[in-house]
Amino acid sequence: MASPRQREKTAPLKDRLIRLIAAEGPIGVDEYMRAALTDPEFGYYMTRDPLGLGGKRSGGRDGERGGDFITAPEVSQMFGELIGLWLANEWRRMGKPDPVRLVELGPGRGTLMADALRAMAVVPEFLSAIDLHLVEASPILMAEQRKRLSASWCETLDQVPEGPLLLVANEFFDAMPVKQFVMTGEGWRQRMVGVEDGELRFTSGEKAADLNITARPGEIFETSPTGTAIIREIAGRLAKSGGAALIIDYGHSAPGLGDTLQAVRGHQYAEVLEQPGEADLSAHVDFAALAQAASGAGAAVHGPETQGAFLASLGIEERARKLSKNADPDQRRDIETALERLTSADAMGALFKVTALTDRAAPAPAGFE
Ligand code: SAH
Repeated sequence: MASPRQREKTAPLKDRLIRLIAAEGPIGVDEYMRAALTDPEFGYYMTRDPLGLGGKRSGGRDGERGGDFITAPEVSQMFGELIGLWLANEWRRMGKPDPVRLVELGPGRGTLMADALRAMAVVPEFLSAIDLHLVEASPILMAEQRKRLSASWCETLDQVPEGPLLLVANEFFDAMPVKQFVMTGEGWRQRMVGVEDGELRFTSGEKAADLNITARPGEIFETSPTGTAIIREIAGRLAKSGGAALIIDYGHSAPGLGDTLQAVRGHQYAEVLEQPGEADLSAHVDFAALAQAASGAGAAVHGPETQGAFLASLGIEERARKLSKNADPDQRRDIETALERLTSADAMGALFKVTALTDRAAPAPAGFE
């Protein structure tokens, strides 16, 4: 057991939360998640590059797995390239607006956008119309992005100027804080993080009288008010100025009950309350709620499709074949493995979903016909 003195050094955010909660009472699960991820001083994303040496693409050696998790653009260049071509297609459909705001939410190491821009070079007039904005909370990841991209940076979408919009978000909405509610003998209550015996523990708080969902005692319901607000803002911009947004994340397409909050550290699941600021926290994206928010704010919703079906319909197999042509046997094996990881149902192909939002005048975009 760590003595309180050692704890001071090793778990500064946990200690601060314990002191805060002991003095002022439990905090909502959303507040806990926000602190753990983006506390300016100790938040997980604010203090490290979680994608680290997440594979050969980011400098890791074969078989070496650094960082805490790996994302699709870090698996293969094919992911960002196909998204680049998808964006070019939508830009043409929009009537080639110049300038067009191209926005990425939570660009990580900037890998997806760098791959997309390289692929877009086949449409030079699109490339020259692009006004690139990256929305990023983490100074460390911002520095990574600066190595690969020239863009304008901001911390929230509302700082991006108005106008025709193309937007991409891969594994961004799963980092948006979720509020949780738990069914008790007296109905729904907000799920909170409290302190018991000097440790962080889940507890229930205020009654949530306005929740009209049937559930058995102990069942949990999640919402993401921050994620929903961002979706509404995107949809409002698309309705007003035209454009398209591509949202990719792991999640479910039918609304349901369940606690999906999870912690990951070093490619392993961890306890949610054990290491705030040290482990990644994320929750499944509720694509049904997302669709409802987007259409309520004036956008057309396409999908969700599974990531596997989406990439297949954009031609990932042809792309893999083309890359393999000029590759040596080792590289060819890597391309095959990456294709499998991105598209097969036992890897990222089925759990990950893709949804597109467009203005209502648009036909179904590529991958959603
Ligand atoms: N899209 C990248 C990274 C995914 S990780 C990829 O696919 O590899 C989540 C990203 O969202 C990181 O860049 C993280 O710093 C950023 N992020 C998390 N919470 C955020 C917030 N509240 N505001 C802005 N960016 C945030």
